[in-house]
Amino acid sequence: MNQHIPTQITTVLQQYQLCDACLGRLFRNSCKEGSNTEKGKKIRTTLHQTHQVPTKQCWLCEGLIEDIPHFARLITDALRENEFNTFLVGSKIDDEIQEREHHLWEQLQLQDPEPIKMEINREIGKILEPQLNKTVDIPNPDIMAIVDTAYDVVTLQISSLFIYGRYKKLQRGIPQTKWPCQVCRGKGCKKCQYTGKLYETTVEELIAEKLVHAAQGTGESFHGCGREDIDALMLGNGRPFVLEIKEPKRRWLDLPTLEREVNSATTGQIEVISLRFSTRDEIARLKAAEFQKTYRVTVEAAQPFNKEKLIKVAQTLRGKPIKQLTPTRVAHRRANKVRERTIYNCTVEQVEGIRATLTLETESGTYIKEFISGDDQKTQPNLSDLIGIPCIVTELDVIEVKGE
Ligand SMILES: [Zn+2]
Ligand SMILES: [Zn+2]
Repeated sequence: MNQHIPTQITTVLQQYQLCDACLGRLFRNSCKEGSNTEKGKKIRTTLHQTHQVPTKQCWLCEGLIEDIPHFARLITDALRENEFNTFLVGSKIDDEIQEREHHLWEQLQLQDPEPIKMEINREIGKILEPQLNKTVDIPNPDIMAIVDTAYDVVTLQISSLFIYGRYKKLQRGIPQTKWPCQVCRGKGCKKCQYTGKLYETTVEELIAEKLVHAAQGTGESFHGCGREDIDALMLGNGRPFVLEIKEPKRRWLDLPTLEREVNSATTGQIEVISLRFSTRDEIARLKAAEFQKTYRVTVEAAQPFNKEKLIKVAQTLRGKPIKQLTPTRVAHRRANKVRERTIYNCTVEQVEGIRATLTLETESGTYIKEFISGDDQKTQPNLSDLIGIPCIVTELDVIEVKGE
């Protein structure tokens, strides 16, 4: 290794007292293997330096390197209450140490120096991995433990826990997610009976309550794969969702048992199926997915239906493209433009006087109510025009979400 020892080492050793770890870190590229402490030792041996600097007297770290096992113990204590499989160590280092470090880097004109912070994080990780029997995960840890080395304080950053499932909505009038009261904007007022909410409950709350409690989380976010209208049922195989539980202390949930508990507490309102653990990436997948849906639609007309005509019209709708200008009811949250959607299938299930039940299979994003009524000609073609009688949707249920 002799030939790789840079000449600056001698200069540095004359000017500063450095411990083996700090010496090895500065010149880590001069040997291939070993920890920085081992590298520092080798450099000293090669230079026939017998005087070893105790880390407490190190000009750079003033003994910080020696405290690594102590920091590892602090973190172990802080993690005691948490369930996790992967972790990452972070640290806060005194500004003065970092300033001295930068000073040396500049003096030595180092191209790719390793900060002491990195060594501390890595070495603590090396102690904790076998001791806790967990793995360090740099991009995606379950928990990040940050030790403030000046104050001996550990802060935990707990990553969210993601649970995938599918829900059915068995009762009308339940919105998917929370709607704050429009009068008080969620603070609580007379109008909302001090609940802060516009609706008594939501699919989100019915699903999340037991799961957040079991995970001992501090909150949640609900990510549905689209949503049905408040007054629509969601049937069939259910609608995919991912529940994100914030700062969970427990991650190893017994999902089959929790699924049964959620379902017995919400009987008649909702039902969850297929619960499993998920990731943040899956939320993006669900949001981007365009799932084809099948609806059951109850339609009421201004005068009795002609059954034969209705069936004929339904047949002509198979594969038909329609154009929809943004409906007035959603205009405040969607851009005003014409959307082209396809009706894949339309089947007449039942006709009785002015009432008919249809099954509609449509492209993702089709406004069903508007396709039936025509929405003041904003949707064309539409069922009302095609059969020549104005009609409206009285009940709309999603009976299948395809493609999952
Ligand atoms: Zn040192
Ligand atoms: Zn209110």
